[in-house]
Amino acid sequence: MSSFELITKHGEHEQVVFCNNKDVGLKAIIAIHNTALGPALGGTRMWNYKNEEEALIDVLRLSKGMTYKAAAAGLNLGGGKAVIIGDPKTQKSEAMFRAFGRFVNSLNGRYITAEDVGTTVREMEYVFMETPWVTGIPKAFGGSGDPSPYTAHGVLMGIKASVKEKLGADSLKGVRIAVQGLGNVGYHLVEYLAKEQAIVTVTDIDAEKLKKVAAQFNAKAVAPDAIIGTDCEVFSPCAMGAVVNDQSIRQIKAKIVCGGANNQLAEPRHGDMLREMSILYAPDYVTNAGGLMNVFVELEGYSPDRALDKTIQVYDNLMKVFQVAKRDGIGTHLAADRTAEERVAVIGKLKQSHQGFSSRPFSTLREVKNR
Ligand code: NAD
Repeated sequence: MSSFELITKHGEHEQVVFCNNKDVGLKAIIAIHNTALGPALGGTRMWNYKNEEEALIDVLRLSKGMTYKAAAAGLNLGGGKAVIIGDPKTQKSEAMFRAFGRFVNSLNGRYITAEDVGTTVREMEYVFMETPWVTGIPKAFGGSGDPSPYTAHGVLMGIKASVKEKLGADSLKGVRIAVQGLGNVGYHLVEYLAKEQAIVTVTDIDAEKLKKVAAQFNAKAVAPDAIIGTDCEVFSPCAMGAVVNDQSIRQIKAKIVCGGANNQLAEPRHGDMLREMSILYAPDYVTNAGGLMNVFVELEGYSPDRALDKTIQVYDNLMKVFQVAKRDGIGTHLAADRTAEERVAVIGKLKQSHQGFSSRPFSTLREVKNR
């Protein structure tokens, strides 16, 4: 398939930039999906792609996902992503990331990058040497640091919204919640849930971590394969993707699925199945947008308090998705996409009217005459 055919197939992106610098071994692709709401933001993934087509499809898919995530989060950001073709273990260099930073810079803020799979804060420092259009830089440079506590706070808000919607309760006190995965997000989430006096069951494949976190927060520890069938109100996936699949779905006893993990549904049809089973699904990319909100605050001049405040918005964002699902008689996974698309369409249209010039656009009258 040609590049344009792939662009048509994967989301009608506005712009795709191929970045090549032989001297430093850089082959990268930046995809800007949609900028109706604001500059396209999304991380840079470094991966050993089998071929260029695989890299292009990945960046097209991921950048489109960012448009939906930012739109559903209520942020004035568009969707973008970048991929660097290469082995992140052996092929990284200062020169490579500075060369990449110069390509990012040439887009004048239409695309803002961040770290992603295969890249770290270290490489973002190199990118920052060449362009201001990078987030997730170290705190010492005015960056926002680790996003996980903010993601976890957003997930807490998501659980509160889901409990209100499904159970009509305003408090998590006494609500039974099963958390899968006690990493960066899961750990902070359990800490919040303990403060809310929820009854928490936890698991992790790391037995040491499981024991420690369960003891710290007075949670019940269960084996990894037991968490999905735990008798509870909320199942909160905070580990890996595709956790709701053909094998697992019938084991779910919870009334709500709401967690921080990405791509929780193995396939969209599993969202329909949850709906048929009367299980409320809080769509993952709406629920885990706290990290993106944190980065957005970094663009405005970072403040941890403002970032935490911003994540409270996950509650209203999910309520809106639940409302659209009811309005249109569809699953919440589809309602999330629809909510995002509606915002892009409506806000994008507002921007079509001309706002006048902030300063005179031509320096001389002769210039005007000559145009
Ligand atoms: P992490 O790697 O710090 O933690 C994942 C934890 O899950 C680890 O403790 C791991 O041992 C455990 N785990 C893995 N497989 C498991 C299994 N089968 N059963 C039980 N436990 C298992 O990752 P994280 O940063 O906490 O992210 C968790 C999820 O949230 C990921 O899907 C990630 O993409 C998503 N997410 C994270 C953020 C963020 O700010 N960190 C933002 C958005 C989405």
